[in-house]
Amino acid sequence: MKKSFNSPILKILLAVFIALTISCSLFKNKNEKWGYPITPVSFTDVTLTDTFWSKRIATNRDVTIPYGFKKCEEEGRMRNFERAGGLLEGDYEGKMPFDDSDVYKIIEGASYSLRTNPDKKLESYIDSIIEKIAAAQEEDGYLCTWKTINPDTAPAWWVKPGPRWFNLGANHELYNAGHIYEAAYAHFLATGKRNFLDIALKNADLIAAVFGPGKKMQPPGHQIIETGLVKLYLATGNRKYLELAKFFLDQRGNAAGHELYGAYSQDHIPVVDQDEAVGHAVRAMYMYAGMADIAALMQDSLYLNAVDKIWDNVVTKKIYLTGGVGARHDGEAFGDNYELPNLTAYNETCAAIGNIYWNQRMFLLHGDSKYIDVLERTLYNGMISGVSLDGESFFYPNCLASDGKYAFNQGALTRQPWFDCSCCPSNVIRFMPSVPNYIFAHRGQSLYVNLFIACSANIQLDKGKVAISQETNYPWDGNIVIHVDPKSRKQFTLRVRIPGWAMNQPLPGDLYRFAENDTEKVTLTVNGKHANIKMDQGYAVIDRKWEKGDVVRLSLPMPIRRVLANEKVKDDSNKVALIRGPLTFCAEGVDNDGKVLDRIIPDDAQFTIESRPDLLHGITGIKVLYPGGKSDLIEIPYYAWSHRGPGEMTVWIARK
Ligand SMILES: [Zn+2]
Repeated sequence: MKKSFNSPILKILLAVFIALTISCSLFKNKNEKWGYPITPVSFTDVTLTDTFWSKRIATNRDVTIPYGFKKCEEEGRMRNFERAGGLLEGDYEGKMPFDDSDVYKIIEGASYSLRTNPDKKLESYIDSIIEKIAAAQEEDGYLCTWKTINPDTAPAWWVKPGPRWFNLGANHELYNAGHIYEAAYAHFLATGKRNFLDIALKNADLIAAVFGPGKKMQPPGHQIIETGLVKLYLATGNRKYLELAKFFLDQRGNAAGHELYGAYSQDHIPVVDQDEAVGHAVRAMYMYAGMADIAALMQDSLYLNAVDKIWDNVVTKKIYLTGGVGARHDGEAFGDNYELPNLTAYNETCAAIGNIYWNQRMFLLHGDSKYIDVLERTLYNGMISGVSLDGESFFYPNCLASDGKYAFNQGALTRQPWFDCSCCPSNVIRFMPSVPNYIFAHRGQSLYVNLFIACSANIQLDKGKVAISQETNYPWDGNIVIHVDPKSRKQFTLRVRIPGWAMNQPLPGDLYRFAENDTEKVTLTVNGKHANIKMDQGYAVIDRKWEKGDVVRLSLPMPIRRVLANEKVKDDSNKVALIRGPLTFCAEGVDNDGKVLDRIIPDDAQFTIESRPDLLHGITGIKVLYPGGKSDLIEIPYYAWSHRGPGEMTVWIARK
């Protein structure tokens, strides 16, 4: 018996059986094409009534989108499409082989914006750009302007001239293509028009004809085509695009098809064997998001197992307290485990956005609130820090300390109006309109409340529609009133996220901990009566027959909390950081006589909060009161720093 159990065939059968059992239980409730067990409630079904995000999204719509288009006009990105289409003479303008992608990303953001704020003028302007893009597309579907204009010259020293698909590790042809698909999908959803989608499909059909088993085997150097192809699959139902996405992922680390690009491009070992986040952080984030898509849509347990392991590595060893990822300027890359320097932290804005995309997908796969804990911390800190409050200047890296001398932001000490490589501004533009996408989700008869943002929504559950709304002044205050209004009396489960920060965990994992754990209790009432909170996967689960007018009140106490880092993080050793609710705080020189790097927050310091509606578009700051009456220290939310000139700033402050 023992002998036969050891036979290799039986072992394989057993492994297949276990894998199938795991994936069957995980994917039990999947929708047809969607594939994820949980479905997010589209931002188009959610109306924001808050002041925090509404303002940011309005600034993105009214300022940053037109500004981004203007920059693309001024710097020749639009003219590149005209030249490639034979509408204009001249050479490729621009310093990057992926300048086309900025235009696509701004169209994506503008399209999402059109969906909630119809604007005929903007829509016809986008159509005029799509006409230029159509002209630039070659007869067989190829679309990459620098190649079409003149394949014998390259826009940057690290890009090699040559025929199509040559030097794919650096040339970004497939990266540009991925952003065409992401943008065309958004434009199709927003307008119902196929003018951009047809361009994308024609391009994807060409790529599917050129790449695949027995054809060209190289993966792109920079990921994004994977999630883009998944979107084309969602738009059309054509599995060819989904399979091509998996093909590109499967080629990574596969030396049989190409000379490996190395860890920088996550191309050192097969993706299903990867268990540590390495290399260029934006590439990594997009890849992990793509892997989650394959895990869900193709029910691939090997992919699932790999993204789970990589996620554990990131949250236990490689994430900043702002949600930022990618410690090193060199290679825009992840550092070693626990390598989290503050002054030289890279934390590209694009990587923060990718981290949000990835963690949303991880939540949709697993239904655990820990993914939303990461998403929320990134959203409120390391992501929105990337754009100024007025919407016209940007951080590329998002450091956690500044000495006012080290020009961390691509040679500058503060946010910049634009960059030669403007991936971050265009990524902010494409991301911002979709923030309401992350508030609610549903699965069968369960309705998830993930983020706390004043809003109203109509949500389709399996057995009918439910109107739901939130009243709250979050992130400044942790009182949330949720109105639940089903059309008729209805049994369903409300799953209200209880954030990790309210339950003694600043972020999932043991990278960060609170200095003290004596928190006030979270309370939750239903129609004024204290509810017995049954917790499951980080959610307060309320299963009852809901009626019109039911009210859930959630109180998340928001004291100022002192956070300590794992001892293995050398740069945070003997230091403390302050957080309050989802916000991470920092001290900035301008509030503190110019100097913050040599300040201390002793363990017996007291804190008060200070509401400052007049400052930085309205913030609540922290005053650190020193024992013995020495001068106080002021801290502000991290996202709001660097609006009053360059100078010192720090998140982590010495305890002694
Ligand atoms: Zn970027």
